[in-house]
Amino acid sequence: MKSMIKIVLLATVFSLSSLVSANGVTDASTPVMKKVVEGVYEYHQYHYGSLVVVTDEGVIITDPSREPRASQLRAEIRKLTNKPVVKVIYSHDHFDHSRGGQIFKDEGAEFIAQENCVELLSRDLKNKVIPADITYKDNMSISLGGKQIDLHYYGPNDGNCMSIIHMPKEKILLAVDWHLPGYVNETYRLPAHNYVGVLNTLERVHKELDFEHVISGHTQESSVEALEEDYRFNKALFNAVWKGMQAGKSTEELKKTVKLPEFSHWYKYKDNLPGHVERMAYSIWHGN
Ligand SMILES: [Zn+2]
Repeated sequence: MKSMIKIVLLATVFSLSSLVSANGVTDASTPVMKKVVEGVYEYHQYHYGSLVVVTDEGVIITDPSREPRASQLRAEIRKLTNKPVVKVIYSHDHFDHSRGGQIFKDEGAEFIAQENCVELLSRDLKNKVIPADITYKDNMSISLGGKQIDLHYYGPNDGNCMSIIHMPKEKILLAVDWHLPGYVNETYRLPAHNYVGVLNTLERVHKELDFEHVISGHTQESSVEALEEDYRFNKALFNAVWKGMQAGKSTEELKKTVKLPEFSHWYKYKDNLPGHVERMAYSIWHGN
């Protein structure tokens, strides 16, 4: 079991590093703090992305993403301000994102998550996840030092407690695991991926939220255009699979016949599309 987990983790790092190196960044251990607008940064390291909001009353961050990254993130924040980190928002429960928050707990930060995360976060057998101090059900608005961060729960997604993280004044959206720009994701990641739920999220984000900046939870390369393209991909996949199902085609047939040429330039399109067709068919049929 342990070696299986190791293989999966290595595969994750390998595939994401191939993607990122194609974009000109080769060393994933290099911390990258990018200013988005005044007081708001995106922080990338080890293929994980966090939002960092710096105010006169303290700092808010998302997703520590394990101890080495958390401690380097802490050091990078110190270069921007001597204020403490006062709030840590979990985008969702998955341990690769949620572990490592002790360093922020030690300086007094409050941890925030959607309420469905509570039980899941408590199941970390390595005990490296700080439990949430504050939870919400549908929506929550956090204000600090003139900055506002809204959390929305749009239902099942990648897991069952995903927060859609939005700064309405600065028009910034953080999309973690429900958006990966230009990449037909590895199929071993799909079991947690409620495809119809993700499509519903993309639809609601498209209709309900105003944003000019998109930060991805995994790569440094995203944009409003990339998110819209991802929305079109999810919708085209749903339409093609559902149409085929209604015409009486089996999942095996659909895996061979469904093609989405508009997205053939996406990373791993050829290798991974059949697995996405299968997962979408399952999601349409079983609702998860
Ligand atoms: Zn992730």
